[in-house]
Amino acid sequence: MKRALNFNAGPTALPEAVLKIAEKEWLNYKGTGMNVMEMSHRSKPYEEINTQAQALLRKLLNISDDYEILFLQGGASLQFTMLPMNLLEEGKKGYYALTGSWSEKALKEAKKIGDAEVVASGKDNNYTTIPKLTDLDSLENGSYLHITSNNTIYGTQWNDIPSNLNLPLVADMSSDILCRPIDVNSYGLIYAGAQKNLGPSGVTVVILKKDLLERSKDSLPSMLDYRTHAKNDSLYNTPPTLAVYLLKLVLEWADSIGGAEALETMNKQKAALLYNEIDESNGFYSGHAEVSSRSLMNVTFTLNSKELTDAFLSEAKELGFTGLNGHRSVGGCRASIYNAVPLEHVEKLAQFMKDFRTR
Ligand code: PMP
Repeated sequence: MKRALNFNAGPTALPEAVLKIAEKEWLNYKGTGMNVMEMSHRSKPYEEINTQAQALLRKLLNISDDYEILFLQGGASLQFTMLPMNLLEEGKKGYYALTGSWSEKALKEAKKIGDAEVVASGKDNNYTTIPKLTDLDSLENGSYLHITSNNTIYGTQWNDIPSNLNLPLVADMSSDILCRPIDVNSYGLIYAGAQKNLGPSGVTVVILKKDLLERSKDSLPSMLDYRTHAKNDSLYNTPPTLAVYLLKLVLEWADSIGGAEALETMNKQKAALLYNEIDESNGFYSGHAEVSSRSLMNVTFTLNSKELTDAFLSEAKELGFTGLNGHRSVGGCRASIYNAVPLEHVEKLAQFMKDFRTR
């Protein structure tokens, strides 16, 4: 059976090896006679899946015991709300760096909960660059600084993470978690919907420094209080068991191929194939992101006219490439090349871009 050349922005390609294991275990997970979906979340096999998934993430991102790992529901979008609900303190501000639509949404939700302010914005440049954060000392009276580490729609990524902050750094890593090694100790909280680099949709990973849990107030609804999930090992209510199981399989796969370092090497190789083609095209393809802010995960580009763009996308579709349309708010084209997208598929796309341009 032929697999699609899948460049979807998310949900997107999962490692074929993972899908094969899931298929093998579909009717009878490790001798239980059941699919993971069919078993109790209080059963030993499921508790093991939950524990192993946490342990693997701890290993792959080198997360110390100072941090809790939570598996939640509601997508990254619910974190736009839970974050300020739990971490924004009375009389203090949530600071936001605006780098695209997702950070705009995060800010909008924070403003509903408390005092939130923009400290840097790339909006005037149509989000082609990651703005410089100057004068970090001025972030006084702040509860946290929020960044979106990778901007899925615009194809930009933070390559210099703000350091020496006097307040916790919070990152929405939905579209680049585990694409490269990170120093988790630089962050107070990291959140990511799983459906790009970690697995299927339905589970959201939150990594947070344990001492920040002290900020949550007893008046919070239980389900929206990080402490509830931390205390109960993410088993307070019924978790998305199938999604957590697949997340565990994806993490095992990532570990087996060499972890975050190996993934970064592969991701750089894949991204370079497409950016080189853009750079060598003498303006036939023009990249949306400025070079220093380019994303390893989402390569965004336009062609000179609507006719050419339409012809490019329709020929690509005929050849089996999927997901290459740019986001409806930006237009043009976008190739999302997350961890599980094989190098050979990116090579095929680079070759197609070259052929199309030559013709
Ligand atoms: N943040 C970023 C950077 C995203 O790319 C997305 C989804 N594409 C979201 C947040 C929203 O995630 P969800 O759909 O899981 O709520």
